[in-house]
Amino acid sequence: MNKIGVLTSGGDAPGMNAAIRAVVRKAIYHQIDIYGIKNGFQGLIDGNIEKMDIGSVGDIIQRGGTILRSARCQEFETDDGQNKGIEQMKKHGIEGLIVIGGDGSFRGAQKLTEKGYPCIGIPGTIDNDIAGTDFTVGFDTALNTVIEAIDKIRDTASSHERTFIIEVMGRDAGDLALWAGLADGAESILIPEKKDELQEVINRLRRGQERGKKHSIIILAEGVGSAFDYAEKIKESADLETRVTVLGHIQRGGSPTASDRVLASRLGAQAVDLLLSGEAGRIAGIQNNRLVHHDISEVLAEKHMIDMEMYQLSKELSI
Ligand code: ATP
Repeated sequence: MNKIGVLTSGGDAPGMNAAIRAVVRKAIYHQIDIYGIKNGFQGLIDGNIEKMDIGSVGDIIQRGGTILRSARCQEFETDDGQNKGIEQMKKHGIEGLIVIGGDGSFRGAQKLTEKGYPCIGIPGTIDNDIAGTDFTVGFDTALNTVIEAIDKIRDTASSHERTFIIEVMGRDAGDLALWAGLADGAESILIPEKKDELQEVINRLRRGQERGKKHSIIILAEGVGSAFDYAEKIKESADLETRVTVLGHIQRGGSPTASDRVLASRLGAQAVDLLLSGEAGRIAGIQNNRLVHHDISEVLAEKHMIDMEMYQLSKELSI
């Protein structure tokens, strides 16, 4: 293999640039030509492809977002769209592709692999919702953004003796809410993996009030529903007033943490090594701090699991 490509797809995540840098530098280290594809699979269809060199990725390791930009592209979900992408790869002589993104992006990578164009995926999403890896690139930065925001909200919660419901991202996964809850000592956490815990949250709020506790933080993962709806439900069933904060897109931005930069660098370099050693249709990941790789189909078929011990601990520490 002499020419490979790299793209970022789906939602952007902090650390994607560090991953791109690692892919480019590792390819050059192996004396392989490396092409950057702009705007995800849309750019692949459009032929928005540029050769990259050592300098193309200088001074980006600390930057959030993705210099290759990202996009969602419905056309690529069709055979026709995928064939157009393959035509472009043929035109540029690109023999293998590294896809940095989430599970949707990996479906695209799987299709290309099935059509004879080997792809390797790097999990890049703040949601930490990919099976086969303990962490995805971007999760740690988003987590730190969330706890910084909650620390600030806590100041107001305690000064004004209020209960806040804070809605965090994570799609169908509760990791961001769970980790933020533990890191921030939240009184309650509502996650999609344990949806029916509202009554327990209300009971805990009441117990707290009986002890003279005047403020509380409830962290709600977006996969459970809207924080505004939950505020209504708590008002209706327990006559308790809550304030709502939806953290929104601040969670996706910002300079990546050291942990995300290191993870992205390790996974980026590993992805290049996998392609060059003839692997195809694999997702790079990290488990127990060791680099691993799994078949895309297995990763897509398996559901990412939250750590139930951590969930139990969060409850025990916020009685
Ligand atoms: P995030 O988790 O941040 O949302 P993602 O990679 O899951 O990231 P999606 O919007 O689901 O984001 O997918 C990104 C892109 O991957 C889509 O816009 C599309 O181009 C491609 N894609 C998704 N599903 C498929 C599929 N079944 N076949 C081919 N390509 C797909």
